Amino acid sequence: MITKFIKRILRRDPMVKHTQSNHSGAPKRIAKKAHRIDPHLLSKNAVKVTHTLQQAGYEAFIVGGAVRDLALGISPKDFDVATNATPDQVQRLFRKARLIGRRFQIVHVTFFGKGHPEIIEVSTFRALLDNAGDHVAESGRILRDNVWGSQGEDAARRDFTINAMYYDPSTETVLDYHGGMADMQKKTLRMIGDPAKRYREDPVRMLRAVRFAAKTGFELDGATRAPIAKLGKLLNDVPSARLFDEILKLLMSGYSWAAIQGLKDAGLHHGLLPLLDHILDTGADSKGANDFVKLALANTDDRIQSGKSVSAGFLFATLLWPDLLKNWKANSSKGMANIPALHDAMDDTIATQSSGMTIQRRFESDMREIWSMQPRFERRVGRYPYRLIESPRFRAGYDFMLLRCATGELNPAIGQWWTDFIATDSTGQDELMASIKNESSNSSNPAKRRRRRKPKAAVPPESAAS
Ligand code: ATP
Ligand code: MG
Repeated sequence: MITKFIKRILRRDPMVKHTQSNHSGAPKRIAKKAHRIDPHLLSKNAVKVTHTLQQAGYEAFIVGGAVRDLALGISPKDFDVATNATPDQVQRLFRKARLIGRRFQIVHVTFFGKGHPEIIEVSTFRALLDNAGDHVAESGRILRDNVWGSQGEDAARRDFTINAMYYDPSTETVLDYHGGMADMQKKTLRMIGDPAKRYREDPVRMLRAVRFAAKTGFELDGATRAPIAKLGKLLNDVPSARLFDEILKLLMSGYSWAAIQGLKDAGLHHGLLPLLDHILDTGADSKGANDFVKLALANTDDRIQSGKSVSAGFLFATLLWPDLLKNWKANSSKGMANIPALHDAMDDTIATQSSGMTIQRRFESDMREIWSMQPRFERRVGRYPYRLIESPRFRAGYDFMLLRCATGELNPAIGQWWTDFIATDSTGQDELMASIKNESSNSSNPAKRRRRRKPKAAVPPESAAS
């Protein structure tokens, strides 16, 4: 037991020293046989950028999340490059290069090839916040140059050790300032420097910790995890737009369910999305809601992991659906007509959500469209279905409706009917319409029957609404 303890201390000691070492200290150079990065996973454009910069006499490396993913054997979704060239110097070297940002300018170098254009983000090594902060506080364009620093400083101001490695494609060497590669092997997510101080500087790092842990399956190092419980409330001071971006990244990470569980374990979910508050506080009555959200998130994770796109509006529509159902149901039981009850519930749901983290307008309108389409899937009479499939957001509304069928909130036969309806030609569609008529031919007055059925059909069953 004691030997084990001593061994652990011995193993950890150099890491602690390393983490706290002077940021200008020399990095560890890691050769190919140790890091095993597969050059085939590299973006050709990112290599072009580092190569061009190096040819012009500058230092240039692939950096950050891309190196982490490469070392994990994952193909990075985007590539960042860090260099000692200033943004102006970078811009002069590339044809399609745009300066972005004001205080900390970076350069977007765009490449057009087959498919989507690829943007390589090139940033100049930055000074540590402590040093740069003095200059920034004095407001300052004139002093802007002083925010650039050495590579060592640039490494020290990054968040986690595994996000602070620099890869040079021409020598296939990794420069590792903070023991990132050792942490990769230990499957540990470790904050660089004093974690509490780093979270105070930027509380969003707490959300990033949870996101990366979910994505990599790594454990948060004890000291990295410890301050989160106390400092989580600092997220309240983060501007809503930044919070939204980070939550979106978390939900779109391909590991959203794991990440949400991670938020809960870290006690960070309160106030981010009211929905997370109430499903993750696991009230017994939230089972139906939980099922729906779980299925929606699993569906999103699957799509992202298989390289398909996911719309943020769709995702938020699913996350807030249980809340919306509850409000819709409450309105209906107050005697409101079905559709106004739904629209009123949409306003309420969005207003409650906005008291936590505001969802951007463009996504809000997608959500409203998807939601307001839902009762229309049950109106399979007259011209309604023909009109519905013409709406520009039909596909999203339809996918959403299928999720409702999958959790049993809506009769799966309705989902199947629509699946058949969109797959067939106009004769087939007419036949499907006739089949509905036949189903209900025992009712002599369809209008009357519809009126009777509507509240029941459009307002979901108890279990899903609660
Ligand atoms: P992803 O795969 O989600 O893009 P990433 O690590 O590349 O992950 P980015 O947000 O693209 O994350 O940031 C790029 C790099 O910039 C990070 O790897 C990290 O080194 C640094 N960084 C980003 N945000 C912060 C932050 N809040 N504090 C410190 N360093 C940060
Ligand atoms: Mg990135």
